[in-house]
Amino acid sequence: MPVTYKDKYTKIYSGDAFQYLKKLKRSSVDLMIIDPPYFLSNGGFSNSGGKMVSVDKGDWDKVEDPEQFYVEMLDLVDRLLTKNGSFFVFGSMHNIYILGYLIKKRQFKILNNITWQKSNPAPNLSRRMFTHSTETVLWVRRENGKQIFNYDQMRALNGGRQMKDVWTTATTNNLEKRFGKHPSQKPLSLIRRMILAASNEGDMVLDPFMGSGTTIVAARQLNRQGIGVEIEPEYASIATERIKDLENEKIGKIK
Ligand code: SAM
Repeated sequence: MPVTYKDKYTKIYSGDAFQYLKKLKRSSVDLMIIDPPYFLSNGGFSNSGGKMVSVDKGDWDKVEDPEQFYVEMLDLVDRLLTKNGSFFVFGSMHNIYILGYLIKKRQFKILNNITWQKSNPAPNLSRRMFTHSTETVLWVRRENGKQIFNYDQMRALNGGRQMKDVWTTATTNNLEKRFGKHPSQKPLSLIRRMILAASNEGDMVLDPFMGSGTTIVAARQLNRQGIGVEIEPEYASIATERIKDLENEKIGKIK
């Protein structure tokens, strides 16, 4: 599988995560950040720049059987995660319930149900329901594991009070998109918080569906090792450019 970038800390692969990760050593990953396709590109509509447009993020967001995709994804997680490792998985109301169900069926424990609140969501053009302004992130470990949680650091970042499970940011800023746009790019501040909370310097962080490389950028900034895999070469090259230009990343505010 083509490696598009490699240094002492970071590796970026361009290809299918299911193929590549089968070859990665069992129990070799301390933390996974998983932002899988939500499989929304199925004829529905969304708001783009104030216009009602049909949702079509690309072929990567369409499969025959989303549930089977998630089952295979969790098989990989199970194989790769260390005994005390953990993972964060993103979802919206469209896929989070099936993800939660599949996670609960295995030997995993959901530690938190984090709500990511967007301070500037796109308005709901239909005017027939509330504006969608949140996504969910499940934080999960093995049933018998003991996760890393940097409690003191999180409390200090939250002004001396315990950090809660509702995190608020604006949608991804344009400076984070300076090498090209990804339709589902997550804010760097959000992923940095996950990595800071649940891993230590030098740990191995893996993102199997890396997109524009937000996880890999955050891991490198925080002195973690990082592996990212992305099936679309265009996005793998955005990630590579971002890693090479690390010092110009703008970290947005998070509350
Ligand atoms: N968190 C990312 C970011 O901040 O840019 C966005 C991730 S996006 C929701 C999911 C990504 O998974 C897409 O870029 C898609 O191309 C990629 N993808 C889908 N199936 C894949 C597969 N089998 N192997 C590797 N990447 C895949």
